[in-house]
Amino acid sequence: MKKKRVVFLDRDGTLNRDVGYPGDWSQIHIYPFAFEAVRKIRKAGLAAVVITNQSGIGRGFFSEEDLLRVHREFGAAFARRRVRLDGFFHCPHFSPGLSAAGESDCPCRKPNPALGLRAAAELGLDLQGAYMVGDKAADVLFGLNVGALPILVLTGYGRRSLRDLETSGVRPAHVAQDLGAAADWIAARERQALPKADHHSQGSGGGHAPV
Ligand SMILES: [Mg+2]
Ligand SMILES: [Zn+2]
Repeated sequence: MKKKRVVFLDRDGTLNRDVGYPGDWSQIHIYPFAFEAVRKIRKAGLAAVVITNQSGIGRGFFSEEDLLRVHREFGAAFARRRVRLDGFFHCPHFSPGLSAAGESDCPCRKPNPALGLRAAAELGLDLQGAYMVGDKAADVLFGLNVGALPILVLTGYGRRSLRDLETSGVRPAHVAQDLGAAADWIAARERQALPKADHHSQGSGGGHAPV
C-alpha cells in the first residue's frame, strides 16, 4: 500500500493559543480555524500529526500523565467535529543548556528531527513531500531537518520568528497568516500536483467518511 504523506503540526501557537506551559485541558484554547484547517489537510489525503516540544515536563511544571490527558482531550475535541488528528508526538525533555533559539542536545526536541522520523516509522508515513507548519524558528528548522516543506504561521510567536528567521537567513517555503491559510496553501499546492487522471475523483461526493 502506498504510504500516506504528512503535514506535521506544531501545537502551541499553531493549533491553540500559546499560553506558556499549559499542563491542564482548561488552559488549552484551540484556535477556531484549526478544526477546518485539519479537515482540509486530511481531505487533501495527508495525515495530520502533532509534533510538540513540552519541556514543561522536564522542568517539573506538569507530568507526562498530565500531557497525555491533555492530548486525549485535544483529540476528542477534534473528533467531536468529525476531524481526526493522526497522532501526537512530544519531547518531554529539558536540558538546562537550552538556548532561546531552542538548540538542544536532546535528539527529540525540535529543531532536531527524531520525533518526525519516529512518527513516520510508527504511522507508516512517507516523508517525501511532507509539510511542517509552526510558529517558531525551531519548527521551520525541524521541517528542513526532516525534509519537509516548512510553513511559518504568524499566530503565536510567528511575527517575532519571522524577524529572527530574516536575520538568520533561514527561509520558510511559505508564510501564512494562520493555520487556516496554511491549510489552504497546502490544499492548493496538492491540487496542482495532482495527476490529470485523478481529477474525476475531485468533489464527486459519495459516502462522507470522517476526514
Ligand atoms: Mg509553537
Ligand atoms: Zn527530547
